[in-house]
Amino acid sequence: MNAAFAELTALLGPERVLTEPEHLAVYGFDGTAAISGEAGCVVFPECTAEVGEILKLATKYAAPVVSRGSGTGLSGGSVPSAGCIVLCLVRMDRVVELDSANLTILVESGVVTQTVAGLADAEGLLYPPDPGSMKISTIGGNVAENSGGLRGLKYGITRDYVMGLEVVLADGSIHWLGSKCVKDVAGYSMRDLFIGSEGTLGIITRVLLQLVPKPAARRTMLATYSRMDAAAATVSAIIAARIIPCTLEFLDRITIRCVEDFAHIGLPRDAEAILLMETDGHPAVVAEEAEQMERIARENGATDVTVAADAAEAARLATARRAAFSALARVSPTTILEDATVPRSELARMINHIQEVGARHRLRIGTFGHMGDGNLHPTFLTDERDHEEMERVELAMQEIFDFAVELGGTITGEHGVGLAKKRFLPRAIGESSVALMRQVKRALDPQGILNPGKIFD
Ligand SMILES: Cc1cc2nc3c(=O)[nH]c(=O)nc-3n(C[C@H](O)[C@H](O)[C@H](O)COP(=O)(O)OP(=O)(O)OC[C@H]3O[C@@H](n4cnc5c(N)ncnc54)[C@H](O)[C@@H]3O)c2cc1C
Repeated sequence: MNAAFAELTALLGPERVLTEPEHLAVYGFDGTAAISGEAGCVVFPECTAEVGEILKLATKYAAPVVSRGSGTGLSGGSVPSAGCIVLCLVRMDRVVELDSANLTILVESGVVTQTVAGLADAEGLLYPPDPGSMKISTIGGNVAENSGGLRGLKYGITRDYVMGLEVVLADGSIHWLGSKCVKDVAGYSMRDLFIGSEGTLGIITRVLLQLVPKPAARRTMLATYSRMDAAAATVSAIIAARIIPCTLEFLDRITIRCVEDFAHIGLPRDAEAILLMETDGHPAVVAEEAEQMERIARENGATDVTVAADAAEAARLATARRAAFSALARVSPTTILEDATVPRSELARMINHIQEVGARHRLRIGTFGHMGDGNLHPTFLTDERDHEEMERVELAMQEIFDFAVELGGTITGEHGVGLAKKRFLPRAIGESSVALMRQVKRALDPQGILNPGKIFD
């Protein structure tokens, strides 16, 4: 492999090829607990043509390539396989074009999500996908994971905003997939194949994103519950009333306490659950929906509902949810953030099951998540050095995912499969779907050099 690294250095220059162990160590993990690897080198291309040349070299030497954005992934997707080339796209961070006539923005894949959101906002537009990591995650990582966010219920996920992609295949060939046309059904939607492909089919180098008009008004509120089923009932009743809030997020008791200890926002420490709810749109509609949501929450057992008086208070209330992961991560040496999704009607059963599993295996699990989407994040507060406890975590995780699948749900709503979930994949989607994915993988990456061992072996 040394010959490959030497050629890469000749191509990019020594300052854009890292090979020293102390430099490689930093790229040995992502946001996933208890998973790490050791790269052979890390390279930083600055344009698509360089990505093409790197992949031609990788093909020549049959060298594995692990693409990486900011490394915030929560399923081990950008964790290096032994001795691989880590292809880090953060230097490809140019905004190519903001087209306000067509409401699109074309960016390189290393652009940070928040940058796109900020540019859209300055034009009176909105880029809706808002993963909790948006201040650091890259657009390329968002597309490769098909990331969701707090606004998913009303606005959808990353896939719903990708109009075009530039991708580089394992052989170094460069392809543009998609267009600025709102309607375009010419041939297979190849673009969609790469969304959520976790770096296993090609490297995404440019992304054309759709923007939408910024809603004129927004109202945020926080409802407190002494019973979990009352919070779940509120969610069902709001949807049944034909209201689709832009945000419908939930925190359980463990998470509430951790957030309060961390952020001191005045959350009720004895509450069983809280719901963060937000509606946006035309001011008259927002006012009416907010009133209805508050009434529905109270009718369904909320012990308190705080409606934000202004933007500052709305931001304070939203902190309760945005700080959840960071707050939980402070509590124990290892934080394993999971990602199970069930049909909305099964939320209460799923949450009860998580609590029962946690108690039976003597584990601390804080749960929060996108209740409106049925997407929960049971978060294990544990210590990877305690092998006996990690065995119980493993058992509990298996039981939680089995139950999610039994309820008609799935093993990941937004964090992807990567390394962390691949053992659960066949049960979740069926062996024949996995076999079909393998065929696609073989067709596009016959040597299997792109992110090997991720999603499936
Ligand atoms: C605090 C925190 C909050 C989070 N909140 C959310 C959330 O609300 N919603 C959500 O969906 N996720 C969330 N995540 C997970 C993570 O941030 C997302 O998956 C994000 O999209 C990853 O972006 P990244 O740039 O860090 O990608 P990385 O972690 O570097 O990579 C992720 C995957 O994408 C591949 N990849 C990266 N760039 C490219 C590219 N250009 N071409 C091809 N493949 C590529 C990698 O190989 C890897 O498989 C959160 C993570 C943290 C740490």
